[in-house]
Amino acid sequence: MQTPYYTYDSTLFSRTIEAAKSEAACLPQAKIHLAVKSNSNARLIAIAAKAGLGADCVSGAEIAHCINCQMPAHRIMFAGVGKTDEEINLALDAGIGCFNVESVPELDVIQQLAVARHTIANVAFRINPDVDAHTHANITTGLEANKFGISMADMIDVIRRAQSMSNIHYLGLHFHIGSQVLDMTCFRQLSLRINQLQDQLEQAGITGTTSINVGGGLGIDYEHPELNPIPNFRDYFRAYADNLELRPGQSLHFELGRALTAQCGRLITRCVFVKQTATKQFAIVDAGFTALIRPALYQAFHKIVNLTGQAEQRPLRTYDVVGPICESSDVFATDIELHEVRRGDTLAILSAGAYGFVMSSTYNLRALPQEVVE
Ligand SMILES: *Cc1c(COP(=O)(O)O)cnc(C)c1O
Repeated sequence: MQTPYYTYDSTLFSRTIEAAKSEAACLPQAKIHLAVKSNSNARLIAIAAKAGLGADCVSGAEIAHCINCQMPAHRIMFAGVGKTDEEINLALDAGIGCFNVESVPELDVIQQLAVARHTIANVAFRINPDVDAHTHANITTGLEANKFGISMADMIDVIRRAQSMSNIHYLGLHFHIGSQVLDMTCFRQLSLRINQLQDQLEQAGITGTTSINVGGGLGIDYEHPELNPIPNFRDYFRAYADNLELRPGQSLHFELGRALTAQCGRLITRCVFVKQTATKQFAIVDAGFTALIRPALYQAFHKIVNLTGQAEQRPLRTYDVVGPICESSDVFATDIELHEVRRGDTLAILSAGAYGFVMSSTYNLRALPQEVVE
């Protein structure tokens, strides 16, 4: 098989889904959706659909793809700050479960397009809760300064506007504070914020809030993927169960991406050269940030294993693992210990199932990696 390529462990993916479902049992109203942008592999989406999960989509193409993968349209939610008319029409025609609306102009366009198609659009409003996710700046989304959502001060006016529209059905509120969040107090803070907002809605006499969507963001253990292949769903769902005051009849939606997909995937790459300089030993591999951009984009850490060297029980040595691309950021790891690396060895970059293949590119005219589901 041509390297670099991704392998996905479908057994671990199913086990992860079952663990999430069983830990969510403390919230009888919970519905879990797969954030498809983290991994849009068709086989994995089909597994998630079969297990009863819904899908969180951020483009029209993701919606069409999910429907092709047997995901029931009513379980699909559509988020994003810049939905185009074509994407909105596609979603209306498909009959998706909910538009997560991020601005007044977007609401107005959905109403207009729904009128033209003689249909009703279900909408929830993404509210910016001003809760800090304490994660990397590029994946923090719930602060006042971020581009996402509607500010809390505008929430009531926007809902009133929606409730006056002929072809809009108001469902509820949507939130998403960020990604790779490991501090459960962030989810507790979000819960308390939602309680406040629900009080405000009631004081304003707004009824009809039947759905609360708390987004995703649960992080995983990139340092010890073998020890912790399944994320801490127990504390995650408990943070909501213990703090969120749902009103009677409300459903609670989760949109998990990384937590469901990251540990199921690894990127397999081959060592092209080992290069010794005055201060460093480089293992130059055939995968670059075109195959996996997280280290270059977010300074993300991924554990790396030299599969060949490990099988031969070679001694440990220190390496920088780098790709072939002419950019200084094309580095997977610095000063890590690997079983001695030789030209031609196969290395695995672990925890690469989320935001891996989906962010790959053909820069330098490099081929996209293949994906294998095992
Ligand atoms: C990216 C995203 C998610 C999933 O985030 P993870 O950190 O992968 O769980 C969920 N909801 C929305 C709106 C998103 O943009």
